[in-house]
Amino acid sequence: MSKFSSYNFKGQRALIRVDFNVPLNDKFEITDDTRIKATIPTIRKILNDGGSVILMSHLGRPKDGPTEKYSLKHLVVHLRKLLQGATILFAKDCIGEEAEQMAKDLQPGEILLLENLRFHKEEEQGNKDFAQKLAKLGDVYVNDAFGTAHRAHASTAIIADFFPADKKMFGLLMENEVASAEKVLHGSQKPFTAIIGGAKVSDKILIIENLLEKATDIIIGGGMAYTFEKAQGGNIGNSLCEEDKIETAKELLAKAEAKGVCIHLPSDSLIANKFSNDAETSTAPSNNIPNGWMGLDIGENACEQFHNVIMHSKTILWNGPMGVFEMEKFQHGTKSVAEAVAESTQKGAFSLVGGGDSVSAINQFGFAGKVSYISTGGGAMLEYFEGKTLPGIAAIQS
Ligand code: AMP
Repeated sequence: MSKFSSYNFKGQRALIRVDFNVPLNDKFEITDDTRIKATIPTIRKILNDGGSVILMSHLGRPKDGPTEKYSLKHLVVHLRKLLQGATILFAKDCIGEEAEQMAKDLQPGEILLLENLRFHKEEEQGNKDFAQKLAKLGDVYVNDAFGTAHRAHASTAIIADFFPADKKMFGLLMENEVASAEKVLHGSQKPFTAIIGGAKVSDKILIIENLLEKATDIIIGGGMAYTFEKAQGGNIGNSLCEEDKIETAKELLAKAEAKGVCIHLPSDSLIANKFSNDAETSTAPSNNIPNGWMGLDIGENACEQFHNVIMHSKTILWNGPMGVFEMEKFQHGTKSVAEAVAESTQKGAFSLVGGGDSVSAINQFGFAGKVSYISTGGGAMLEYFEGKTLPGIAAIQS
């Protein structure tokens, strides 16, 4: 049993770092509560044990201290709905006398939500005094915020120093995130296929480099594929290209060859005469796109090519769309990859999907329940697979 599951929280005040950085509309209503829902099992376990919960999070990027727009008070009503029956209190500042008194008075079964951590600039600075003031509020520190695990902020990493080893731990969400990522990175069954898409090569160089050590196959789709095509002498018309990354693309291709890792580029592309949903479209080999045209999705042959690779895989990691999936005309490739990942999972492969756009795609196309794990952390997941040590994880594990 995990450290969190075996811990008895009876009579304890658990200070949980959550990632409640959710999108809000003009009326301050939550438009996607995935991140909140993901931490409910952690909160429930503590309450069921007879403990109380203090929740701390950031919301948005407030630059100038307290601002109505970024107040966590907007989340209280929704949280009450999700945690029916629990008393939820709100502290107008995350540190200070009032928060301390409210934390002290908290009864078993009750929840105290603290105001936005980033209303204090010390949070992002990783300030020790600030971390100590936060630490005072709880008896046990639980980190359940994978989305911010790549930041060495006061509440995500520094705070852990103020708790003894037996009183700091991951929550259930964080445990699952770490276990799934570890399974892919260190315990992957082969063939292991990484599907990397999205707009820019520059954002994905480090992850490709690290995956060259782990994966057997790397599928490269989306806008970034054209820089690789050009690096091999292809004609890519007006498709997206990072001229200054052509050399890097060449190096990555050479490294892959030396290591025996198979890089799969889309054999054909759905091309358009403008970047628009009402563009004229046609298909062309991805290395022979006429001038004036741009590849905005992978083509039908590439869908089949990628489908075959994915179906032969035992481990699958997916980050980034295969085309401009926000436009209906160019979503077929991403949808078909999502479908293949789901199909392969059904046949026994372990699949992990992460990164904002691939997660929206998998949800949008209705395959969310058909993959093994969907990560809640975009940037954190990327850094994890780049092979970096995440401060939020190291702080608990050390
Ligand atoms: P990223 O944030 O790097 O993962 O990129 C995601 C974005 O890449 C999405 O907004 C897609 O619309 C965009 N994208 C994917 N394929 C292409 C393409 N062929 N040309 C231009 N943009 C693309």
